[in-house]
Parts: sequence; C-alpha cells; structure tokens
Amino acid sequence: MQYMSTRGRISGLDFKDAVMMGLADDGGLLLPQQIPALSRGDIAALTRMAYPDLAFRIISLFAGSIPAADLKHLIDRSYQAFDHDEVTPVVHKDGIYVLELFHGPTLAFKDVALQFLGNMFEYLLKERGAHMNILGATSGDTGSAAIYGVRGKQNINIFILHPHQRVSPIQELQMTTVTDPNVFNLAIRGTFDDGQRIVKEIFGDLAFKSRMALGAINSINWARVLAQVVYYFYAFGRVQRATSCEEVYFSVPTGNFGDIFAGYIAKRMGLPIRRLILATNENDILTRFINQGDYSTAQVVPTPSPSMDIQLASNFERYLFYLYGQNPGRVNDAMSRLAATGRLEFTAEELACVGRDFMAGSATRQETLDTIRAFHAATGYILDPHTAVGVKVGKELTGGEVPLVCLATAHPAKFGDAVREAIGQDPVLPPVFRDLDKKEKRCELIDADTGSVREYLQKNALA
Ligand SMILES: *Cc1c(COP(=O)(O)O)cnc(C)c1O
Repeated sequence: MQYMSTRGRISGLDFKDAVMMGLADDGGLLLPQQIPALSRGDIAALTRMAYPDLAFRIISLFAGSIPAADLKHLIDRSYQAFDHDEVTPVVHKDGIYVLELFHGPTLAFKDVALQFLGNMFEYLLKERGAHMNILGATSGDTGSAAIYGVRGKQNINIFILHPHQRVSPIQELQMTTVTDPNVFNLAIRGTFDDGQRIVKEIFGDLAFKSRMALGAINSINWARVLAQVVYYFYAFGRVQRATSCEEVYFSVPTGNFGDIFAGYIAKRMGLPIRRLILATNENDILTRFINQGDYSTAQVVPTPSPSMDIQLASNFERYLFYLYGQNPGRVNDAMSRLAATGRLEFTAEELACVGRDFMAGSATRQETLDTIRAFHAATGYILDPHTAVGVKVGKELTGGEVPLVCLATAHPAKFGDAVREAIGQDPVLPPVFRDLDKKEKRCELIDADTGSVREYLQKNALA
C-alpha cells in the first residue's frame, strides 16, 4: 500500500515513511492511495475474530511493508495493555449498543491508537537506528494517552506541556505520576492556548525541528486513524451476532473528526454502516457543516465534554479530499479559502453526497447532563459526558430501523464533576485511579514562553 498527501505533492510513500512523516511535508494529510474493498464473505470471516487477530488482519491491509510476524507481535503487545479481554467490549443497555473504548491504561479511547503508535514508533526507530523527541501540548486526554503510549520506550523521549493547575486533578495525576526517565511533564504558567502556541512556534523553526528530531503525536498521524478502523469492524461483528442485523448505525462523539473518519474508512471498505452519526457539543462546526453546508469557525465554548471543545477539526481535510472527488487542487483551494476567511461553503449536490454517509446533531450542556441522568435511572449504567453527547444525538436521529452503536470514548470516572452534577454521585474509581495521589510525581514548572521550553528541550532531548 502506498500513501499520498491530500495536497497532491507527496505520493508513493510506503506505510513506514507515512507513519514517520506524520503531517505531510506539503502541509496536507496522508492517505492510502487505494482503500481495500472487502466482500460480505471477507467481512463475515473478519468479524468472527478475537480483537488482536482482527486488528492484525485489518492493519495488514494497509501496512504491507512490515513483516507479518513483527506486525502481529506489535499489535498483540499494544492490546495486552488493555484491562478487558475483549479489548473493546460491546454492552447492550436501554436498547442501544455501547462500544466501550475506555479499557486502556488512561481510560479513554485514544489509548487504542496511541498504544499501537508508541510501539510502532519504537519499532521503526530501532530499524532506522534513529531517535525521536516527541513534543506536544495537551488540555488533558491526549497528553496522558501519548505518555502511556511511549513510557519506557527506547530511542524516544516525550515532552508534554499542560497548563499548570488548569487540567482536572485526575488528568494531572495521570501524567505526572509517570516517572519513567524518558517522560518529561512540563506544567506551564499559562493556558492550553499558550501551550499550543509554543509547540507551534517550535515546530515552525524547521532547522531546530530537524536538529532536535522532533516528532508529533497528534491525531493527524495515519497510524492512529488506522488503529481506530478496527473497532468498527469488531463492534459490527458483536452486534450482528446478537441481532442478525444487516446494517448498523454508529454514533460518534466528535471533536477533531479523527474517530469518525476511521468509521468512514470502514464504511468505504464495505462495512455495512447505514449512516455515521456525528455528534457534537455546543462547539458544533461539524454539525453545521453536515446539516447546513456551513463550515465556519466560532469562539470555543467550554462544555462538560472538554475533549470535544474544538473549532477546527484537524482530520476534516482527509474527508474533504474524498468529497472533492480525490482532487488535491480543490483541497488546496479550500484550505487557502478557509485560512483566509474562516469558512467553507458547500453546494446542495455536495451536501447530498455528505448525507449518504453522515447524519449530525449536537447536545447542549443541559442535554448532556440530562442524558447521563436518564440513562443512569433507566439502566444503572453511567455514561461519561462525551459518550452522553453521542447517545443523545444517536437516539434523536434514529428510530430502531437498525441497531444503534454508540461509541463510549471515556470512562465516567475521568469526568467525575459532570457525572456528579448529573446524578449526584461519583462514578466508582477503577483500580488504576485509586491511590494515584499517593504515588511519586515528576513534573517541572516552567514559564509559558517559547525560549524557556526550547532551552529545556536542548538540555533534555535525546541527541
Ligand atoms: C479526543 C476525544 C474525543 C474526540 O475524538 P476526535 O477523534 O477528536 O473526534 C471524544 N471523546 C473523548 C473522551 C476524547 O478524548
């Protein structure tokens, strides 16, 4: 399988180079040059497999340049880090199927991709005799999942900036209690936006970036999308076994369009998904795109589902590439227009095309909390606020024609404040969270300026 950029100036990369490149060198995002089409028979056979075997089969279709035994080993190791033997189990509650994606080490769905990416980076660096210094800013979830993805790995150091005392206590502890020598937590005296700005400025200095072998771990890496394709197949298999259904709906709480784009790839591969339901909170740019053809940025508002408080969806460009008939010229034009005007508009014809794959809706703060409360009252099951957004929108837009699968993207204990506000009680803390505050911590407090962070990198980066 070869990879190309959505902007058209990169093509013919193999899987390994695509993973190492991350963001395409022409500013676009990498995609496979063909998407393998699976027959009904193929899909029936795949969906009977255990998760790690299924993951191996799906990922192999896209990662042919890695010897099968190595890939198998890498995948097995990635999913042994999960605390459920099904990896991503499906539970049936209140007429819907909840796909639990939070059984990884940091209890959010990002572990599914980042455990795999961490192992893949280690493997590729070793093969190349190279090293990497990962730099990222986080508002919470991604930072801890990235740290757990690479802790203790050879030839990789990771530097994660978080805003000092502005992430939830659990999120902070999840990061700072990782004391492996290759993990550097930097609490900056500033906001998440300061962190993002610093990272952007440092990556913008291409000479420094290359001298320091800086790498990113954000959601634009193709390997992350690929690892997420797997659980759509897995969930379909479980639900089909239970109901003999021909098709399903998936409802996906969305921020950066990464997770739902993985569903779109699964659909293009032939998985019988009637529609992908895109669910947003009050930051609803993607819902406005699907329902009105209006993709225009607005101010970010804080919500109880903070991992979806995003204005520009970094993976959206991948979908635009397909919507624009795989024409990189049109993607380039659109991205320039978006940068210049803050908006994109779409024709009725384009929207009809979008509507064949997607439906969309959003949930307010109150609706999110009400959904947690009602679902708990009906079933005793506690939804995290991100998952609740997907459940609310999924139920509203479907009527039982085919089963509804809602992606549960985080464990409710990660967002205890919202849960407490909704149901007046705390979710039970899973064992990995207990006594977190009694563990040894490692974190450096640092000024929110680019110079200080550069200096810190120079002192502590692998060279
Ligand atoms: C990151 C995240 C999301 C959004 O996922 P995208 O791939 O950015 O759309 C949803 N829920 C949780 C808990 C997350 O951490």
